Amino acid sequence: MAHKTVSDADSHLPTGLYIIATPIGNIGDISSRALEILGKVDAIACEDTRVSGKLTSFYNIPAKKIPYHDHNAAEMRPRLIAMIKEGKRVALISDAGMPLISDPGYKLVAQCAAEDIPMTCIPGPTASLTALTLSGLPTDKFMFAGFLPPKSAARKTALAEVKAVPATLIFYETAPRLIGSLEDMQAILGDRPAAVARELTKKFEEVRRGQLSELGAYYQAHGEPRGEIVIVVGGPVAGQTEDWTDEAVDKLLREMMREQGMSVKDAAAFVAARSGIKKRDVYQRALLLQQKKK
Ligand code: SAM
Repeated sequence: MAHKTVSDADSHLPTGLYIIATPIGNIGDISSRALEILGKVDAIACEDTRVSGKLTSFYNIPAKKIPYHDHNAAEMRPRLIAMIKEGKRVALISDAGMPLISDPGYKLVAQCAAEDIPMTCIPGPTASLTALTLSGLPTDKFMFAGFLPPKSAARKTALAEVKAVPATLIFYETAPRLIGSLEDMQAILGDRPAAVARELTKKFEEVRRGQLSELGAYYQAHGEPRGEIVIVVGGPVAGQTEDWTDEAVDKLLREMMREQGMSVKDAAAFVAARSGIKKRDVYQRALLLQQKKK
C-alpha cells in the first residue's frame, strides 16, 4: 500500500513529517527546498539543539527546536506524532547529514508509516555516499555497514559477517578506533583495496587510498588522524573463497581461543559468522576442543 506523502508544491505547507538532510561540514551544502521547508515548519526535532542552533541561526530559521535523541526518543515520539495529528508541520533533522543514517529517526518514521501519517524526505548530503564517491572503488553495488563495535573481538565477528558480501563496504569510524579497525579489517577481510575519507566537505578534507595493509602502516607510523572518518573497503577478491572442513573450523576456533584469548562463546560466534555454519554447531565443536585441552 502506498503511504501518503506531503508535497510542498504550494506555498501553504501541509501537515506531516519532513525528514530533512543537513550539511556534513560545509554549511552551504543544504538545498533551497530544505531551507524553504525549514522556514515554514512549526517545530524542528533535532538531536542536539545547540548543534542545530548553528544552522538555524545562520539561515534565520525561527521554528522552535525540540530535542529528539536516543535517550528521550521513546518519550518524545508520541508527542511529535500527536503534534502532526493536530495539524502541525514537524521537521526531523540530525546533527549532520541524512537523519536515520547512523542517527535517530527510524522508529519515528516506522510509527508514522504504521499510522499512515503523511511524510516526505528532502534528501541531501550523507558522509557514506560522499566517501564512496571519492573512494575510487566500485560503486555499482555497495553495502553501508554503519559503525563497527568498539571492542576487537566483537568487531572481528561483525567483519566476518560481511566478509562474503559481494559489494563495496562502507563503515563509519571514529579517529581513536581507526588503527584498530584497519588492523582487524586486514585480518578478517584480507588485504583489500580501501580508502579512508576524513573531514569530508570541510577545510581539511582528505581521502587516502591504498591496500588495507598500506593504510594501516601509514596510520601506525603517523598516529591517529583528527576528525570524522569513513572507511570504504573493496568487495571480496575472486577466488578467495574458503573451504570450511571440520579441520578448518577447529583450526580457527583454536586460534581464536588460544592466540586471541576469546571465550568459547565469542570464538563460536566469530567462526559461525565467518563460515556461515550454524552457531549452535560451532559452539558444540568449541566446547569439545576446550574439554580436550583440559
Ligand atoms: N547522518 C550522518 C550521515 O548521513 O552521514 C552520519 C551521522 S553518524 C552519527 C557520524 C559519523 O558519520 C562520523 O563518526 C563519521 O564516521 C561520519 N561522518 C559524518 N560527517 C563526516 C565528514 N564530514 N567526514 C567524514 N565522515 C563523516
